[in-house]
Amino acid sequence: MQIKSADYILTAVRPDQYPVHDRPEIALVGRSNVGKSSIINGLVNRKNLARVAATPGKTREINFYKVNNTLYLVDLPGYGYAKVSKTAKESWAEMIETYLNTRPHLRLTLMLVDIRHNPTADDQTMYQWLAGQDKPRLLVASKLDKIPVSQVGQRLQEIRAVLGMDSAESLIPFSAVTKQGRNEIWAQIESYLG
Ligand code: GDP
Repeated sequence: MQIKSADYILTAVRPDQYPVHDRPEIALVGRSNVGKSSIINGLVNRKNLARVAATPGKTREINFYKVNNTLYLVDLPGYGYAKVSKTAKESWAEMIETYLNTRPHLRLTLMLVDIRHNPTADDQTMYQWLAGQDKPRLLVASKLDKIPVSQVGQRLQEIRAVLGMDSAESLIPFSAVTKQGRNEIWAQIESYLG
């Protein structure tokens, strides 16, 4: 995908605040601090379009970004941040679920997991929910540059095993630093736009 424009559109917490348009949307989910803002910036070749949070757990709303007037990237609240109340966690879970369940524009959900660690219980819950709802999804292992190349294969296999991924399903390693994986992710996204 050649990026001609990328703009922040708005921040929402409820469906009546979502932008009105007729383009496809690609959602991003993952633990707080997994690198969602960084992958958005990486995908659209911008340093600061999506705020890269200095403190984890800061992104508590749904942020909409428009790319090339052809699609929207939708950054959903990061889950699994320990230092918030149960009520706050429930309200984020509801925000994520409401968007994923009700948004007709949604074509694909990018789910990020940190390549260095095995998926957490929250990651497993998120993945099982997506798989159980038969939602189109693309798994991305973030922070690829943080591990030695020699460990990549084994880390990907372990992540697959913990999530119970089908061998036919993609798990694309990505680095926001080197941009490795970027073209493959765009190719996959484009295959869902149709
Ligand atoms: P978010 O909370 O999921 O939006 O995560 P951010 O994009 O804000 O990233 C959290 C932290 O991880 C920041 O300090 C980023 O610079 C760092 N980070 C994210 N992706 C990568 C990556 O691919 N490589 C490296 N080395 N650091 C990354």
